[in-house]
Amino acid sequence: GKGLAVFTSGGDSQGMNAAVRSVVRMGIYLGCKVYFIREGYQGMVDGGDNIEEANWSSVSSIIHKGGTIIGSARCMEFIKREGRLKAAYNLVTRGITNLVVIGGDGSLTGANLFREEWSSLLDELLANNKITKDQREKYKYLHIAGMVGSIDNDFCGTDMTIGTDSALHRIIEAIDAIVSTAYSHQRTFIMEVMGRHCGYLAVVTSLASEADFVFIPEAPPSVDWRDKLCDKLEQERKSGQRLNIIIVAEGAIDREGKPITAELVKNVVVENLQQDTRITVLGHVQRGGSPSAFDRILGCRMGAEAVMALMEATPDTEPCVVSLDGNQAVRLPLMECVRRTKAVAQAMADKNWDLAVQLRGRS
Ligand code: ADP
Repeated sequence: GKGLAVFTSGGDSQGMNAAVRSVVRMGIYLGCKVYFIREGYQGMVDGGDNIEEANWSSVSSIIHKGGTIIGSARCMEFIKREGRLKAAYNLVTRGITNLVVIGGDGSLTGANLFREEWSSLLDELLANNKITKDQREKYKYLHIAGMVGSIDNDFCGTDMTIGTDSALHRIIEAIDAIVSTAYSHQRTFIMEVMGRHCGYLAVVTSLASEADFVFIPEAPPSVDWRDKLCDKLEQERKSGQRLNIIIVAEGAIDREGKPITAELVKNVVVENLQQDTRITVLGHVQRGGSPSAFDRILGCRMGAEAVMALMEATPDTEPCVVSLDGNQAVRLPLMECVRRTKAVAQAMADKNWDLAVQLRGRS
């Protein structure tokens, strides 16, 4: 059977285990020899025990777990050719020529580069007598299928990234808990949620929790936001509301590009309205805990589609990213999606927010 390996790389997210499970089982079902690569690219470079053959039962009882059981890491060595040469050696000598990468845009970029270089890496290994001519010929094509694990929902080309829905659940639970105590004491709470370049978590949770105000990086408020905020909060209290909830995405900024932090918002509220105001920074709680039903199923569907894409690949099939489009699993050109995602970040850096939102499209 074909050699296929799966690894998780970059930041973790809920639902990655469901994806790993699905890749392993679909791969075995279709007759592949399936491997785990532990600790992302680091495990690929280091080889040894990090690359281990998986069997049907090695992915039992993981679908409900957050994070990734095969570990994830950032790896500086893989950014250099030397590291990628080691990685290529570790794959070829195990007969692995199909890779499923689960990560963010950095991890996908690395995979694409690896595939572009594959031929020349094998030439170098052959020249150094690290592999045989037979191995050079037999494993000459590397195929890549990616999927995006991220709670931020910040990737172009997919309606939802794996982990986003669970993060929404986590945030909503936290806000509900805060609301009850805020009600008792007539407090104002400022909740900071994740999302450096993407306000998706902030917008969706503010709608779902009846928040009074939300700050996101894509829609920086005009300079008079302080007045607008205070007017709104005051009006809510006057109409009988006992509490206020304000949600701030961690990357929120004003029109001049200056950060709008939870601390800054708190100072504005306290100085102008003298409300009893507290800050809750949710932090890594958002990335943890058990994956939602949606993320489990999303991981399963994406994993199966990724394996199918690899099995159907021909020598000139370009790397794809498996994504969700209108509730259909689709395969998109990997690098085009990465380029669009990077263009969004650039547009935001250029303060061209309309362009950023337009480029991001559906998600
Ligand atoms: P994410 O995948 O979540 O965006 P990173 O950007 O940290 O996270 O990338 C994860 C890993 O992918 C890096 O530590 C590195 O090993 C690899 N990687 C990222 N960018 C590149 C690149 N341009 N070339 C080669 N490898 C890369």
